Amino acid sequence: MIDLLLRGCRLPHRDGLADVAIAAGRIAAIGRIEEAARETVEARGRVVTPGLVEAHIHVDKALLSGRVTGSAGTVEEAIRLTGEAKRRFTVEDIRNRARQVLELAIAAGTTAMRTHVEVDPIVGLKGMEAVLPLKREYAAALDLQVSAFAQEGILQAPGTEALLRQALTMGADLVGGVPYNDTDAIGHIAIVFSLAREFGVDADFHVDFFDEAEHLHIREIARQTIAAGWQGRVAVGHLTELAALPVAEQEAIIADIAAAGIGVICLPATDLYLMGRRDARNVRRGLTPIRRLLAAGVPVALATNNVRNPFTPVGTADLADMAFIAAVASHMGTPEDLSELVATLTVHPARILRLPDYGLDVGCRADLVVWECERPEDVVAALPPRALVVKDGRVTIEHERRTRARWREEPARP
Ligand SMILES: [Zn+2]
Repeated sequence: MIDLLLRGCRLPHRDGLADVAIAAGRIAAIGRIEEAARETVEARGRVVTPGLVEAHIHVDKALLSGRVTGSAGTVEEAIRLTGEAKRRFTVEDIRNRARQVLELAIAAGTTAMRTHVEVDPIVGLKGMEAVLPLKREYAAALDLQVSAFAQEGILQAPGTEALLRQALTMGADLVGGVPYNDTDAIGHIAIVFSLAREFGVDADFHVDFFDEAEHLHIREIARQTIAAGWQGRVAVGHLTELAALPVAEQEAIIADIAAAGIGVICLPATDLYLMGRRDARNVRRGLTPIRRLLAAGVPVALATNNVRNPFTPVGTADLADMAFIAAVASHMGTPEDLSELVATLTVHPARILRLPDYGLDVGCRADLVVWECERPEDVVAALPPRALVVKDGRVTIEHERRTRARWREEPARP
């Protein structure tokens, strides 16, 4: 018996319309389906994509506007301002803000998410205590991966390594580092890899987040990824410095990234907001070279990063916004480019998060979004509302909207 039948779907990379049959949480058939179903949804030619995958967000420090004074002009300032707010975080406070972000993301079609959660001598394990239980609380709507993230550094913040180990013992899914915010970047990277190997988990780095190519820690991460045999299990976020290099040097590093099987996560809202601050004219964009990375076969995800805090004062936790921004900021405007941007919200981040059985093939987990548009590229170009979100074969979100053009109904006053 079919549990859910989506009739008349426009699927990316497929001509014409198709029905999608879902049974036992998985896609059971795609094509013309006559069988009866427990629930049938008429897609009427609307686009259906796999569920959106948020590869990099910080739910623990989201929604701080109102309690942080001053706005950050640099990465260092954003870390300092957020660090001050963090001293007053409580478990309940973190969990409430995290829940609000999860609700926004789920309503927008996100069915899997990796969140970084800070672990350091300031906040201790409060973030872990707050966020880890949300994995189960939200499991029916979203797969949540929690990264134990050393935002304040490891070597310059004594006690952090032991806290990271505790967080991983508590159930964190992976370990996150930030080599540019430490006294010894290479030592920092080595500790992250030693924890990854000790616990058998993936690693995710905030890396090279400056205007000029002054760190390029990515080279050391690629080297240690191969030395650890961790190919396919490492991601890096930001990597804005790569864009500052001459093209030939970019290509050489991109070849190393591809060889190490590292995924790259571009965070367009934060990167555009915090990069280029010293440029008085011709302000640079500060985005990693998305198109060049994609051309080399590197999985590239676009992700939200921060939602309304000193790193990024705006944010909706709707991933489609990030593709819209990147289309403009990275000059990706052809129908092929826009379709590739849809992949940076879906199949690429799914690969980076190593989500099993993800996609629009028979046998895949039925995580789907029905969009209010009829061309796949309009997912990015038109930011259409979501009609329906499906997680593991069950409808999780149904949006109803009604717009009344009252100006047409009522005569204008004389
Ligand atoms: Zn981040």
